[in-house]
Amino acid sequence: MQVASATQSDARVTLDVAIALLNGLTAVDGDDAGRSGDETEPFDVREVLDEYGFTRAAKASAASIDRIGRRVAELRPLFDGLLGATFDDASAAVNEQLTELAVRPTVVAHDGVGPHLHWSSPTATFDDQVLTDILMSLAIELCEDGTERFGRCAADGCGRLFFDGTRNRSRRFCDDRRCASRTHTADHRARRRSA
Ligand SMILES: [Zn+2]
Ligand SMILES: [Zn+2]
Repeated sequence: MQVASATQSDARVTLDVAIALLNGLTAVDGDDAGRSGDETEPFDVREVLDEYGFTRAAKASAASIDRIGRRVAELRPLFDGLLGATFDDASAAVNEQLTELAVRPTVVAHDGVGPHLHWSSPTATFDDQVLTDILMSLAIELCEDGTERFGRCAADGCGRLFFDGTRNRSRRFCDDRRCASRTHTADHRARRRSA
């Protein structure tokens, strides 16, 4: 069994944050199905980055956070296109984005995480750091497992994306627990009706 290296684990955490941002920034049709009465707070890019351990998020400028939001939202078609894409199509799309990056890798070990790569120099702006991390993580994942761990929530009316980090690739739902529970309830009712 292959054990993920710190670089690979790091890449997967970054893909999780990228997808959390994409889902929050780019609501798709029917996204709010079954969620009436739920007053959602405005989506906060800084808070999400902070929660996922981007230590510079708290002090980043508003302009830097805005640029991250805009650029990540622009990546939505790329991420949507990964679902079911061939390796050639996916790598072409990702390679096109990689040409835009100022990649300056360094080898580091910090905060209890073993040796891994950082993709931008310590002097890079925070927005460049985050965008470079996201695209390099996507590139690493394409090399590891291709596109098969990228998925869309199976709940009716939910178009949110997820990254499936499970060992046996069994994930079906997005991070919103209500999606899994309302689908299970609906399945259960359907089974009882047909019984
Ligand atoms: Zn690190
Ligand atoms: Zn969902």
